[in-house]
Amino acid sequence: MNIACIVGARPNFIKMAPILKELARHPGHFHPILVHTGQHYDTKMSDVFFRDLDMPAPDHSLGVGAGTQAQQTGAIMERFDELCGRVKFDRLLVVGDVTSTFACAVSATKRGIPVDHVEAGLRSFDRTMPEEINRILTDAIADLFFVTEPSGVANLLREGHSERKIKLVGNVMIDSLLSHLDKARGLEKWRSFSLSRSGYALVTLHRPSNVDDGQRLQEIVACLSQVSQRIPVVFPVHPRTRKNLTGAVESPSLQLCEPLGYLDFVSLMAGAALVVTDSGGIQEETTALGIPCLTLRHNTERPITVQEGTNTLLGNDLGQLVTMISDITGDKYKRGTVPQLWDGQSSRRIVSVLESL
Ligand code: UDP
Repeated sequence: MNIACIVGARPNFIKMAPILKELARHPGHFHPILVHTGQHYDTKMSDVFFRDLDMPAPDHSLGVGAGTQAQQTGAIMERFDELCGRVKFDRLLVVGDVTSTFACAVSATKRGIPVDHVEAGLRSFDRTMPEEINRILTDAIADLFFVTEPSGVANLLREGHSERKIKLVGNVMIDSLLSHLDKARGLEKWRSFSLSRSGYALVTLHRPSNVDDGQRLQEIVACLSQVSQRIPVVFPVHPRTRKNLTGAVESPSLQLCEPLGYLDFVSLMAGAALVVTDSGGIQEETTALGIPCLTLRHNTERPITVQEGTNTLLGNDLGQLVTMISDITGDKYKRGTVPQLWDGQSSRRIVSVLESL
């Protein structure tokens, strides 16, 4: 079975790596063909993940590069369609909710290639998020749905998909996390920021609602600066965020840095007292690690991280952020449990479903 495995942006590499490893354990059955769209293309957002996650080099690089969402969608659809004309793919495997996920799913479906969507069914019910549009559209045309949490199953059933095609398999991002955790912990990355274990807050922000409006971003950074007087803050800055981050005052207690490679980032996350984020994946990783996570969003497509895990949604309430951080440092925060099937075996479940087709 020739399976086109699509990656394009940072979270895709982390989700695809364990699936590729598992497919490679069945060489007689599967021939995975790794396609990199080039949606994220530089060393810090792409190359480092191939090294850290021990991934094979892409078999095909579409090289779309920077552009608006529409430009990237158009370029990926055109180039992937052209590739589908040259290479015989029996199935397409896409992960997550980025532009590459949706664009390749459309091209493949129009060529009659069945689409398997990993991380299907998640819904924030917020159509101002570009990722929500990608999720809805990908699921509308996918043939098989691999789901991380029960809410995803309920959403897909409500949208009219057949129960037969929906497989609750757990979370491949957690497969990657668990298989790299010992190595990452051993790096003790916090030392390179002159910090001690469990003695700092880690911050990531890249959602348009927080970073595209310069004023909102300045307010968040001013709040982080206030927080840093209580607990040191490390903030690896996403390229999208960097553009609007003018005049941020750095200090030994508020350290900004470039985006980190996977192992360095997991090391910092696993050693943090708490995480402040708007990332999808980091809400899940902190839940798996039992690290308190404060999410600067009004909603989440991953509700299990709030219901069972360590996540709390704060909307845009920065006053609440300061209060919650005090609760966490004062040991008054909820503990959380790890959701069912987030056990490091999700890729194995996915591949055994594919084997049975
Ligand atoms: N991550 C990383 N380096 C960083 C920030 C995040 O390796 O500097 C990892 C993080 O551990 C998680 C993934 O990137 O596995 C999340 O990606 P991102 O937040 O870009 O996307 P989202 O999950 O919001 O779609």
